Amino acid sequence: MGVSTTRLTDNIYLIDAPYHGRTGVLATYLVSSRRVALIDPGPAPQAEGVLEALRSLGVERLDYVCLTHIHLDHAGGTWLILEEYPDARVHVHPRGLPHMADPSKNLAAWARAHGERAALVGEVREVPQEALLASADGESLELGGVSLEVLWTPGHSTHSHSYYERTSGLLFTGDAAGHTPVGGLLIPTSPIPYNPVDAASSLARLQALEPRTLCISHFGAHEGASELLGELKARVELWARLADRAVEEGLEPRRLLELVAGEDPPIRALLESHPEAETPLLQSLEGFTSYAHWVRRQAS
Ligand SMILES: [Zn+2]
Repeated sequence: MGVSTTRLTDNIYLIDAPYHGRTGVLATYLVSSRRVALIDPGPAPQAEGVLEALRSLGVERLDYVCLTHIHLDHAGGTWLILEEYPDARVHVHPRGLPHMADPSKNLAAWARAHGERAALVGEVREVPQEALLASADGESLELGGVSLEVLWTPGHSTHSHSYYERTSGLLFTGDAAGHTPVGGLLIPTSPIPYNPVDAASSLARLQALEPRTLCISHFGAHEGASELLGELKARVELWARLADRAVEEGLEPRRLLELVAGEDPPIRALLESHPEAETPLLQSLEGFTSYAHWVRRQAS
């Protein structure tokens, strides 16, 4: 399947470029006015399709490549975009910035987390230091009539930030506001080392914006953003409490999932309608359990 482009507003597009033949893996967003920003180009195999979409939209100049965070499934193909748009500045959280200039540690972490599937992410090259621009919490990227407000939103990672386009109410969160791996239900995106306390504060901050549309990376644009953010925050807080109890009582991961399903009705319904949701749910819970262990180590 080829790349597809959906117009979300007069100025904003969702680009769905296939990743090894699969679509709906990572949404790339284009915000285009007098100045142009591309949010999360994806890894190199996918960034090729993003470039194809930019060419067909007639994008001649890119001002910013905005990275919600530096995980390689979002940021790995940044170098490829810069080859075609060398004047673009890469806007990235200051904690992530050094790893764009020297991706070796980021690549090693990716390999540890993804094992034999890690190589699918394709080639990752460094981005020239002079192209990198550190984000500041609360700043605004002015694009002419539209702007992207920057909010640091740690939790999923320490180097996560989100972008808010106030005139349209579109909020771009990367992985800071969950993902919808199965059945359309928003669940936490919580790889180790996840921090659910930071994640819940970030979600509260995003909800206070009263956004209209939640534009997540995995995957797509969802109306009713404020409500979705509130539900996800409650989910994060509940799962954190239950994971803490599971660690306290030495419960197996599947037993923790049973506790979650017992107290989180949409999760129970999801497991009934989509039994395959068990795998991403167990994965997601690992981040919570790992955090609960970490807290205990700090206290002892
Ligand atoms: Zn991520």
